[in-house]
Amino acid sequence: MKAAVFKQAGQPMVIEEVADPTPHPRQLVVKVAFCGICGTDLHSTRAGPAALPCGSILGHEFVGEVVAVGRELTQHWRGGERVCALPFLGCGLCAACLTGRPFECEKVALTGIQVPGGFAEYVATGDRETLLLPDALELQRAALVEPLAVGLHAVRIAGLQAGQRVLITGAGPIGLAVLLWARALGARTVVMSEFSAERRALAARLGADAIIDPTQDLGAQFADAAGGAPDVIFECVGAPGLLEQCLVAAPRRTRVIVVGVCEQPDTFMPFPALLKELEIRFAVAYTRDDFETTIAMLASGRIDAGAMVTHVVPLGEMPAAFEALRNPTHQCKVLARIGS
Ligand SMILES: [Zn+2]
Ligand SMILES: [Zn+2]
Repeated sequence: MKAAVFKQAGQPMVIEEVADPTPHPRQLVVKVAFCGICGTDLHSTRAGPAALPCGSILGHEFVGEVVAVGRELTQHWRGGERVCALPFLGCGLCAACLTGRPFECEKVALTGIQVPGGFAEYVATGDRETLLLPDALELQRAALVEPLAVGLHAVRIAGLQAGQRVLITGAGPIGLAVLLWARALGARTVVMSEFSAERRALAARLGADAIIDPTQDLGAQFADAAGGAPDVIFECVGAPGLLEQCLVAAPRRTRVIVVGVCEQPDTFMPFPALLKELEIRFAVAYTRDDFETTIAMLASGRIDAGAMVTHVVPLGEMPAAFEALRNPTHQCKVLARIGS
């Protein structure tokens, strides 16, 4: 099969012929239709200790059709079924796996990191981690399940209540996913802070009530736009200084949810946060239920995230599109179109 193969940091991936995957007894092989490029893919292909080894095949936001079924699964799966999958291959036996939290499995292998991912014609996935897609959900829309599930997980961790006012820093795919869920779950007002003109426009299109300037006082701008202070703040950028900015903007006893992936040391002044009895919580990844809920809400049209996809490129053009995402960009979610 053709796959985009990572060679080394600083070089675009190379499209090569590699061996087709064969399913283990409890695995499926999926013919990939679309696979989204994610911020974590960019992180794991940068020079540094976390860089992937040469020969890795990335891609964890894939959707497609089952083409081969492991011998222990033939009662449960059929060729032709349309699926997406959590990119966590767990042991299937521990409490984390059995309760739909394979991310927490001690033996987990990540599809697209430790095992070959979806920037290829075929990908092997786990039985428990694979979810059937309803007919009403087109594959291109279903390619957004994974980033949307990240947003849902964060909003659930926040305990967001109907009628609350929400501030989100950063209108990238994760910030926009949080926006969509906050609206769907009844937030009274959702305000986003974002620099990029294109992302500001996209945030407005997806229903943000106001978009404010990250270089100015967030609390004052929020109060002007929303007619009150935020009840919940989501940090969706993941750069040094952003958590501090959120803590400054937070009124007493609010919750700041950190969703952005910051891989550098960061500092904040604890004393003002202490005086306000703020709560900081981190949110990462998703459970199987976050995936199931996202699929149901997309299929019924109650979450419409289609505008998040700004570019769809064939596999052959994906390595160049991937590299282009390293620089500030007007793209939001970029999908590789593979076998569709
Ligand atoms: Zn992702
Ligand atoms: Zn496990």
